[in-house]
Amino acid sequence: MRILVTEDEPRILTFLVRGFEAEGYAVDAAVDGDQALERLRTRSYDLAVLDLLLPQRDGLSVLRELKREQPDLPVVILSARSDLPTKLRGFELGADDYVSKPFSLDELLARARVQLRRAATSDPEGVLHAGGLTLDLARREASVEGVAFRLTDREFRVLHRLACEPGVVVSRERLLAEVWGYHFDPASNVVEVCIRRLRKKLGDGAPIETVRHAGYRLAA
Ligand code: CA
Repeated sequence: MRILVTEDEPRILTFLVRGFEAEGYAVDAAVDGDQALERLRTRSYDLAVLDLLLPQRDGLSVLRELKREQPDLPVVILSARSDLPTKLRGFELGADDYVSKPFSLDELLARARVQLRRAATSDPEGVLHAGGLTLDLARREASVEGVAFRLTDREFRVLHRLACEPGVVVSRERLLAEVWGYHFDPASNVVEVCIRRLRKKLGDGAPIETVRHAGYRLAA
């Protein structure tokens, strides 16, 4: 997974590059809009993180060019401009997400993961196997030993998140953020309810375990 980070503030750029690298991503940096476009044209990326206030060519202009040339490349805007018109303009030009500065690195990383996963699962051939469970990502169908289950969109996404890393504990907060979005009330019990329904539907075919004070995992 290779990410292009465009940011003209050296301290923030270093912070971002280190943060993404610590998560195992390959990262290239661009310090202005022209450099960003040059990098995007010479190398293939899985995600672009884009500042808006840049010297010379500004971020929205980079975004417009980029989406014209590579409509499928996910773009997360990271900007101090948090006014609604700018945000809306960003989404209109094809941004996939928008994080306002000052930002939390953890939140940015979580949002980046969502975009990367979404891009990966739009692969029409995508079928994921985890134990006896099969997830058909294109049809959004889950089956256990050949028996298909009808799942809601959220149920499918929670199951998919767990099945991406069988045996690995995924926290309730992460599921809430990645499946329901950060604006959802963190005190809500939607995750628990969804897990309960999944267990009921899937039975022992795809056991979802609760790990106390940590989260949930799909038995490996
Ligand atoms: Ca800037």
